[in-house]
Amino acid sequence: KISGLPYIKSIDDFDFSFQPGLDKQKIMGLFDLSFIREKGNVIFLGPPGVGKTHLGVSLALKACQSGMSIYFTNMEDLIIKLRKDHEAGKPGKGRGYYKSSLVVVDEVGYTPITREECNLFFRFIANRYEKSSTIVTSNKAFGDWTELFHDPIIVTAILDRLLHHSAVINIKGNSYRLKGKKP
Ligand code: ADP
Ligand code: MG
Repeated sequence: KISGLPYIKSIDDFDFSFQPGLDKQKIMGLFDLSFIREKGNVIFLGPPGVGKTHLGVSLALKACQSGMSIYFTNMEDLIIKLRKDHEAGKPGKGRGYYKSSLVVVDEVGYTPITREECNLFFRFIANRYEKSSTIVTSNKAFGDWTELFHDPIIVTAILDRLLHHSAVINIKGNSYRLKGKKP
């Protein structure tokens, strides 16, 4: 049982025919979970409704079923946690977001963050770098992260670590939420 999941769906519930631009083999390859054993990251990018959260959820569930420790959160909640622990003078070491084999950070980029929060997020990414895996989903292209995080130097440092051992999945298709609703 994992808390923090917005919903429970597996990859079997994912209709690849709706997203023909998506490399099915590449996605299915992630489900052998070797990226977690190799401490790599996965980044899902794309507009709303294309399946980023669904893919993150189904990977988290698969990892959980394989006995790995999972922490699922969205960016907003993660920042709140990081700030609380920082203000309490705790380094976060006992925390799920610190020690889980897989952390999923959903919805990076939906809400802007302050410079200080940006620093906390950097420390979070740096702490996990080459130690454990992180999945990030974002509706913003990397080029737009600078504006969102205010500090271009920190953004570069975050992306440098995040992308070093990573699979970046760019989903360019239509929103599944609007399926059948557009003329
Ligand atoms: P987002 O990319 O905004 O995170 P979600 O992954 O949450 O979007 O997808 C929105 C809704 O549509 C969810 O209920 C999800 O399960 C469903 N969905 C998205 N893409 C597909 C797909 N290819 N096949 C089946 N369901 C999908
Ligand atoms: Mg989502």
